[in-house]
Amino acid sequence: MNISLQLKVALLFFGVMLVSALIALVLLVLIFNPIMRQNSENQVLSVASSVNQLSQIDALSETEIRSLLSITPVSIDVVDSTSEFIEKHKYEIRLNNYYVETTGLFPSSTAYMKLGSNYIAISGTSKDNNYWVIYFVVILSFIICIVLGTFITIIITRYLLRPINDLSRAAAEVARGNFYVRVSEKGAEEYRTLQKNFNRMAEELSGTETLRGDFISNVSHEFKTPLASIQGFAKLLQNDSISAEERTEYTQIIIDETVRLSKLATNILNLSKLENQTTIANKTRFSLDEQIRRIILMLEPEWSKKNIDLDIALDEVYYYGNEDLMGQIWQNIINNAIKFTPVNGSIIVHLFRSESNITARISDNGPSISKAMQEKIFEKFYQGDHSRKTEGNGLGLALVKRIVDLCGGKVFVENLFEGGVCFVVELPFVIDDMMS
Ligand code: ADP
Repeated sequence: MNISLQLKVALLFFGVMLVSALIALVLLVLIFNPIMRQNSENQVLSVASSVNQLSQIDALSETEIRSLLSITPVSIDVVDSTSEFIEKHKYEIRLNNYYVETTGLFPSSTAYMKLGSNYIAISGTSKDNNYWVIYFVVILSFIICIVLGTFITIIITRYLLRPINDLSRAAAEVARGNFYVRVSEKGAEEYRTLQKNFNRMAEELSGTETLRGDFISNVSHEFKTPLASIQGFAKLLQNDSISAEERTEYTQIIIDETVRLSKLATNILNLSKLENQTTIANKTRFSLDEQIRRIILMLEPEWSKKNIDLDIALDEVYYYGNEDLMGQIWQNIINNAIKFTPVNGSIIVHLFRSESNITARISDNGPSISKAMQEKIFEKFYQGDHSRKTEGNGLGLALVKRIVDLCGGKVFVENLFEGGVCFVVELPFVIDDMMS
């Protein structure tokens, strides 16, 4: 059975109050019952002694005595003198003039005595005095307390549980996919902590949801552009009247676009793999300077096409890490430097080891990057320079940042005083690096 917390608290209160009331009543009876018994006995005994005196002094008849005492709150009745009870207590009555018997929760006493030739019973009850009023008042107070208290408990718990109910409704909304729901932060400190944490959780979820939405729309957009271009040029190729040069040009465009699509797919896959990773796997010890030199050589066709001057100064550095991932860092940054450096420009690649770090600085004399953009360029799909949109997909630096983060390092960009930018990658030493 599902009982609400509110009902549970109310039932608990009711139960506790009921048990307390019963204990109090038992105590009350234990205290008052002996007093009431005494009182009841005194009452019948005083009447009995009056009867005795009247019968002796005035020699009144039994009927006269009974009518004289009819104004007292006791009843006087003639008892069958042959009854078993009288037979049993005859001796005590003769010895003490009376035999008194008291019974009941509200004690009632009966004094048996001999009047003339008859036996009479003088009965009185404690109800005839005011003690029972005390019982009544106490019981009534308990009933009022229990009913009123339970009612007040229900109202108070409803008030106290309101933040929980609000939270429960909000959590149900989140479960339905509405991550923009928030609860107001108020009430007791424990509630406020819970509400604050809930809001933070919803905030995070809505952020992730926005990112996911943005990511999907970015990916679709990035795929759509080359696909549209491939479709357009493929259609043109169907036309028999185009010249041989045009055919070669269109085919080359289709090939370039498919390469771009393939690169995009690889980058997305790599990035999503890295985002699900918390550590770097497949580590080996390799020469970082060698690796950078190899990449520069591999990109030779690109930089020599633009007649770029390269200044390379690399310390001999051994690094313990994932060689393939490290290669992606240098390839993306140097590739960008070549892409953004003007014809006849220059690129400087430095690698050096300090006390605690390995630092690589890759500078070019291309355009600078505004302060506002310096953080953004490391976000997925961010492309600052719209004129070069076709040359990349905005994932290169996001990959770089993710890899550097996984290595426990830092990557950032600075504008150079003389123009151009410098990308700085700082990597912490790992024990194995020291062995170099
Ligand atoms: P893209 O494929 O567009 O190069 P990246 O993630 O590699 O994507 O770079 C994101 C953006 O950062 C680029 O669009 C560009 O605006 C800026 N950027 C990257 N490298 C440089 C650089 N060397 N000089 C100037 N801007 C750069």
